[in-house]
Amino acid sequence: MLPLGGDKFHEECGVFGVYAPGQDVGRLTYMGLFALQHRGQESAGIAVTDGRSIALEKGVGLVSEVFSAEKLMGLEGNLAIGHVRYATAGSRDINNAQPLATVSRRGSLALAHNGNLTNAESLREELSERGYLFQTSSDTEVIASLVAQAEARDVKSALISALEQVRGAYALVVLTPDRLLGVRDPNGIRPLCLGRLGTGYVLASESCALDTVGAEFIRDIEPGELVSIGAEGVQSVRFASQDKAVCIFEFIYFARPDSKIEGVGIHESRRRAGRRLAQEHPAQADLVIAVPDSGTSAALGYAEAVGIPFGEGLIKNRYVGRTFIQPGQQLRELGVHLKLNPIRDALEGKSVVMVDDSIVRGTTSSRIVRLLKSSGAREVHVRVSSPPIVSPCYYGIHMPTYGELIGARCSVEETRKRIGADSLGYLSLEGLVQAVGLPEEPYCLACFTGEYLHGRRQVAKGAVCHA
Ligand code: SF4
Repeated sequence: MLPLGGDKFHEECGVFGVYAPGQDVGRLTYMGLFALQHRGQESAGIAVTDGRSIALEKGVGLVSEVFSAEKLMGLEGNLAIGHVRYATAGSRDINNAQPLATVSRRGSLALAHNGNLTNAESLREELSERGYLFQTSSDTEVIASLVAQAEARDVKSALISALEQVRGAYALVVLTPDRLLGVRDPNGIRPLCLGRLGTGYVLASESCALDTVGAEFIRDIEPGELVSIGAEGVQSVRFASQDKAVCIFEFIYFARPDSKIEGVGIHESRRRAGRRLAQEHPAQADLVIAVPDSGTSAALGYAEAVGIPFGEGLIKNRYVGRTFIQPGQQLRELGVHLKLNPIRDALEGKSVVMVDDSIVRGTTSSRIVRLLKSSGAREVHVRVSSPPIVSPCYYGIHMPTYGELIGARCSVEETRKRIGADSLGYLSLEGLVQAVGLPEEPYCLACFTGEYLHGRRQVAKGAVCHA
């Protein structure tokens, strides 16, 4: 089955947690997950505790599909965590939906995880040899089982002991009967921020979820930091030294434009990327359009910089949701029409700059270029507000293999021909890093460079462009 618009990186997951005795934490988490829905549409779940037991509701589908009013009524307590999931590791079934609730000798707890462990397989083998029976194929259960087997007396110490054994990307929220814990891996690859809600606290993958529940942003959780939230407030522990390498794709595509990560407003950073793209690859055209919605901020910046009007040329159907179709060529073409429809009057006879945030396989780009031309556009100049993607991601993004990545196989000119554009320009890596605005060191750039964290370098071998 082919998810419509499947030629994009898929966001990994979104996590949310709230400690707010006396407030409706189940509904607050429901609202927080709505704000994070763009980070995962496969499943959603909420775990709530009243201090005695943990109530858990989860299911396959969008937040609105999983939770009814009756289900939310059963989610009352003092603290809650929630999760929206896109299946990066583990199959897409209800067993892998999160939060994951477990009972250990230190009591009940529930976990929700955003990211991917790079040593999950070897840890899973070791744990299986020691007799642990896995119920799911998700990385989260690996962390849960390490917590359960740790010798430590309390959950916080057991969690730290577990985290010392895992490698890769994780932003975690953990619920115990009386505490909400939040953790970010030593590289801080996936985001996690802290907010204040009255006398309570909120943890969320993105600040847009804090805004949605009326919480005030306090700060990002630091890489290698564990926060423990309870009646006495927020306690912070460093469980590893930090080596910051935030995923730069959060700024390009994953995060919502109204979020801030590491103090950087996402909309403004995309707009700066568009301006820089215009300097690097100007075009003579009548109209600048975006591939909605993720290309919009960069297209605005591009139009401002080149002095060409920005306008709408493609309308996105926001209600397509998780429609699936069989992957026949004809239906794929229809899939693009179902999701994006051209405004013929705006395009007729025009030379158009089409700004997109990234090109993964190139299949959707070529369909959109065809769509624009068949709708009357005279020329289509494609501008991309990130560099060519040359390597897969191992840190929690569902990304194609080398063979599927057009940037790993084809030169820019070969890609241009394949997608049928009149010209093609990608933003340089230097331009992207400057547009986001943090110093170069704090980013993970591996999908653009093949330089993975911890010194591992991989490049595509024998990749051929069938232009
Ligand atoms: S490889 Fe790319 S998508 Fe993956 S974490 Fe690094 S920058 Fe993000």
